[in-house]
Amino acid sequence: MNKKKCNGCGAELQSNDENRAGYVPKDKLKKTGNVVCKRCFQITNYGKYVPVGIADEEYIEEVKMIIKELDVVILILDIIDFEGSFNEKILNIIRDKPIIVAINKIDLVPTDKHPSEISDWVKKRFIEKRINPLDISIISAKTRYGVNGILTKLNHFYKGRTNVGVVGVTNVGKSTVINRLLGNKKNLTVSKYPGTTLKIVKNIIPGTEFTLIDTPGIIPNGRISDMVCHECNLKIVPSSEISRMTFKMEKDRVLMLGGLAVIRVLNEEGEKPIFAAFASKDVKFHKTNINRIEDMKSKHIGEMLIPPCNNCKDEYSSLKMKKEVHTVNEGEELVLKGLGWLSVKRGPLKVEVELPENAEIIIRKAFI
Ligand code: GDP
Repeated sequence: MNKKKCNGCGAELQSNDENRAGYVPKDKLKKTGNVVCKRCFQITNYGKYVPVGIADEEYIEEVKMIIKELDVVILILDIIDFEGSFNEKILNIIRDKPIIVAINKIDLVPTDKHPSEISDWVKKRFIEKRINPLDISIISAKTRYGVNGILTKLNHFYKGRTNVGVVGVTNVGKSTVINRLLGNKKNLTVSKYPGTTLKIVKNIIPGTEFTLIDTPGIIPNGRISDMVCHECNLKIVPSSEISRMTFKMEKDRVLMLGGLAVIRVLNEEGEKPIFAAFASKDVKFHKTNINRIEDMKSKHIGEMLIPPCNNCKDEYSSLKMKKEVHTVNEGEELVLKGLGWLSVKRGPLKVEVELPENAEIIIRKAFI
């Protein structure tokens, strides 16, 4: 059996099944030196996504196996999709290890937020889970902000040969962080598509005795961004500073987040809650009235109301939908996992949210 691994995602290379992870044409398999599988090649060179998933059970087994070898874990979280990345399954696997938390994509947060405020907010979230990280770093793998700080922390806490595991759900920027830590050797496949790193990949950080061990990214449950086609996924996962719009809305006014979620205000007559909505710039916000919802849905989803696009709108609307009622107090946020959040400035805000049954809604203390 061939044990050669893809230099991008770590999957075992094979040339028997094009739909399975690690596929390369036979002639490439015979090549010596670094080889990347067809999927990584396409992602890197054409931005083309070829979905190959990793099941939760497989993920847990793989990570459990490797966890024993680790001296320390770098847990990567995405500040924009914190709830999507603060994953219970991952936390439970790593909770007994020393953890350096890296809060990534800080470049996307509106600039008036100080990193220390974000770090305090994150610390409280860990305390709630009874986890006490060794350190919390605020970083942007994209701009390199704070990435060297992780190395400084590793050097501070560890001497000699050290196995450093890197864990996180898909899309948090794990591969980008690792590429930065390894220097400019761009050898892990970076993409906006979930499920890119499939198996465990080991690399030594140049000039150190730290072995970085990349683990597969698990696709968490309940993220709206995972329920649309990959073009729309690219739009929902923000790549530039997120948009923030403030709304003062009365009873029965409605906010649509593209065609993905319908938020209807349920407050009493005369009450005017104020809230700010945050999402990727490519998610269109639209205000309307309760009696226009059905018309908006039937005529404008896929065009004025995007995402979803024309290609995936039928698939999205065929998902089983639910309506959840929530009361969100001043200073709290209503998070639609993998899409965005509403931050209540004058409350309470009472809403009915319509979205797919599998999508998760969380209420948290405001971070912005
Ligand atoms: P992985 O699935 O966790 O390995 O994530 P990737 O490293 O493939 O990154 C997912 C997407 O997030 C890609 O489009 C990256 O360019 C983007 N990304 C990663 N880090 C950052 C960051 O610090 N800021 C921004 N704006 N985007 C980032």
